Amino acid sequence: MAIIKKISEMQAWSKIQKKQDQTICLVPTMGYFHKGHLSLIEKSKELYDKTVVSIFVNPTQFGENEDLDSYPTALEKDLDKADKLNADAVFLPTKDEIYKKNYQTYVELEKLPHHLCGVSRPVHFKGVATIVTKLFNIVDPDAAVFGQKDFQQLQVIRQMTKDMNFNIKIIGAPIIRETDGLAMSSRNTYLTLEQRKSSLCLSQSIEKVKKMISLGETDSDTILRKIDAFIKGFKGTKIDYTALCDPETLDSIEKIKGQTLFALAVTIGKTRLIDNTVIEPFDGAR
Ligand code: AMP
Repeated sequence: MAIIKKISEMQAWSKIQKKQDQTICLVPTMGYFHKGHLSLIEKSKELYDKTVVSIFVNPTQFGENEDLDSYPTALEKDLDKADKLNADAVFLPTKDEIYKKNYQTYVELEKLPHHLCGVSRPVHFKGVATIVTKLFNIVDPDAAVFGQKDFQQLQVIRQMTKDMNFNIKIIGAPIIRETDGLAMSSRNTYLTLEQRKSSLCLSQSIEKVKKMISLGETDSDTILRKIDAFIKGFKGTKIDYTALCDPETLDSIEKIKGQTLFALAVTIGKTRLIDNTVIEPFDGAR
């Protein structure tokens, strides 16, 4: 497995693969791998000739009071895990390599970032769209895999790819969960034992919403009021948002008629956790 730190070396590596008619798939990450990350690498290996995993804790997607400085890292372990899955290259740039002196260009979407996580994280998706654009230009992949765990991020990247005419296939991969339902996340490591118990409010909210909709409830306000009360019953939780919306535009839905995204963000102690699911209502609910 190649370990590449310089942009010029990454570009040269990809050029060689292309000359040999090898397809390339990119898996962008911030490291501290769990099974969710590994599932993306596996998906890439399954579908493409060469897999490039990038590990970069991107400073521009963190707000001022967020966890950039404390974001967990485990580089040696990550490299070992990527190697065991036969990733072909790991791109491991420094912050100075990516954002050179006098850096001043950003990619910003007009609508999608004003929903869900973007409300409390106003600079986040600008940072995400910018780093992914740069990675696309550096690695020049045929495809890239992203987790549905970060549903809004996936939509932002799909839209940005289309708008910017990148000829890159965007693949969404399912959410990998712990056995008790908690969606895997590098940030789960911040949770104390007690907070870990409260963290189950997210996946359990998803089950509750699915149930309410399957029983014919179509009024979003009614559903969200019940869910907010349910979450408040867990110790130390603070709701950032709970939302029922159109999976494509992320606009709120008042009456549930068709495919609906339920998404939520809850802060437990200092840790902000997110989860989501796309619900297909039963005929009875239409
Ligand atoms: P991160 O390192 O948190 O930036 O995540 C890198 C990629 O892994 C993103 O595409 C995430 O959506 C994806 N990811 C994170 N957690 C999970 C999970 N539990 N299941 C599937 N994909 C995930």
